[in-house]
Amino acid sequence: MEKLFIDGKWVVAVSGDSIPVYSPITGDSFATISRGKEEDVDLAVKAARTAVKGEWSKLAATDRGRLLMKIGQSVLDHLDELAEIEAKDTGKPMSLARKDIQALARYFEFYGSAADKVHGQVIPYMTGYAVDIIREPYGVVGHIIPWNYPAQMLGRTIAPALAMGNASVVKPAEDACMTSLRFAELATEAGLPSGVLNIVTGYGYEAGSALSSHPDVNMITFTGSPQVGTLIQAAAAQNHVKCVLELGGKCPQLVFNDADLDKAVPAIVGAIVQNSGQTCSAGSRVLIQEDIYDEVITRVAEQFKTLRVGSPESASDCGPIITHAQFKRVQEFIDDCLASGLTPLAEGKYANNLPENGYYIKPTLFGPVPRDHRLAKEEVFGPVLAAIPFKDEDDAVALANGTDYGLVASVWTENGARQQRIARKIEGGQVFINCYGAGGGVELPFGGVRKSGHGREKGFLALEEFSLTKTIVHHYE
Ligand code: NAD
Repeated sequence: MEKLFIDGKWVVAVSGDSIPVYSPITGDSFATISRGKEEDVDLAVKAARTAVKGEWSKLAATDRGRLLMKIGQSVLDHLDELAEIEAKDTGKPMSLARKDIQALARYFEFYGSAADKVHGQVIPYMTGYAVDIIREPYGVVGHIIPWNYPAQMLGRTIAPALAMGNASVVKPAEDACMTSLRFAELATEAGLPSGVLNIVTGYGYEAGSALSSHPDVNMITFTGSPQVGTLIQAAAAQNHVKCVLELGGKCPQLVFNDADLDKAVPAIVGAIVQNSGQTCSAGSRVLIQEDIYDEVITRVAEQFKTLRVGSPESASDCGPIITHAQFKRVQEFIDDCLASGLTPLAEGKYANNLPENGYYIKPTLFGPVPRDHRLAKEEVFGPVLAAIPFKDEDDAVALANGTDYGLVASVWTENGARQQRIARKIEGGQVFINCYGAGGGVELPFGGVRKSGHGREKGFLALEEFSLTKTIVHHYE
């Protein structure tokens, strides 16, 4: 059984209970993890509190940064091993798992090199006063992360927190936490002091809930469903602590009649099928100007038909869905679309030698999807693309902003003024012009509005999210 990682040591959960881990590739159980609960979270928070007051707080920012960069290098040194763990745990293609591990390393390089570049400010004030604004860590940060990009999410949330001198307690998703456990070991070997990073595996309603409501946690970050996000925010409010939420999306890809379709079409397909659509920023709606609707949809359909779904080793485009429950949820959504009269325009195919009991779903393209259909508004979190025609610029913007979400969008047009107009009218955290996602972009601030959440992670801005200002006023005359 995999243990919990608390205060630099491997420990079994106080209750001794465990959780089976199922392979999305075959449906078989291949491991067990510890079922951490309230008492384990409490031990982890105490260890983090001790660490944040101890030698960790005395380390110069440069030394913290150096340590983070060393951790990033260790991740790269173990790239093959970590990618195999990630692919086995999540089912994603090996090529994607390798990119995810490289991104994990990149977070530690980026924030390691930024740790000593967060400068304060000096405020001109009345004669005889010197006023400084300095940035300080929050203290103990609780991180609750999901299963879709376990390695990337881990790096995204803990690297900036640690760079600013916080200590972290992480509750990874019960469905995919193996990489975070191995990572904790590597970080400790690289020299991270005991208690600075603690990993408590377990169910959300037990370990996750205990972490988000713990009275000695100073800040919470959460990535996952809007429903659980509401619970996290309520728990943070009870303790009056800061909370950053990243909750998903129904991201639009806008295609105008002057777009370069040779570039747009492959990007449109890639934006929905990456990670089998299990991506908060998946481009799950393609909005197409009506006079080129047929042409675009025909070309997108052609590409959909070439997609292969299979195991990580099969060089497929899509892996399985993470769990049986999630598989059922996506399949039921597709069944519901079919029952409502939508006809699939195109589907991918299964790769040869598909394991029998894995959770595989073919990428599916539907269109034209009526604007009030649930597929036009609700997140599927699977490889399902909804195509919707629009009339003109105003119609496109209204449609793009017409869901409860606001996270990422792309705009495909050669008209420079239109690119700028639309980018400014889109409600969300990132807009890509004639591209999508830009390869993940550790450097690019990311986050949502409305049901997609609030707060920003990634980029230099995350260092501000994970730190507090203090104003120091010195009267010297
Ligand atoms: P979830 O929100 O239930 O789980 C995400 C994390 O929150 C996991 O670590 C889980 O253990 C934890 N959690 C669950 N209940 C909790 C609670 N009461 N208190 C504290 N922590 C809790 O997501 P899911 O069930 O794994 O997936 C369901 C849906 O969530 C998906 O269909 C998708 O729409 C969305 N989702 C979004 C993202 C994203 O990147 N935004 C990631 C995963 C899932």
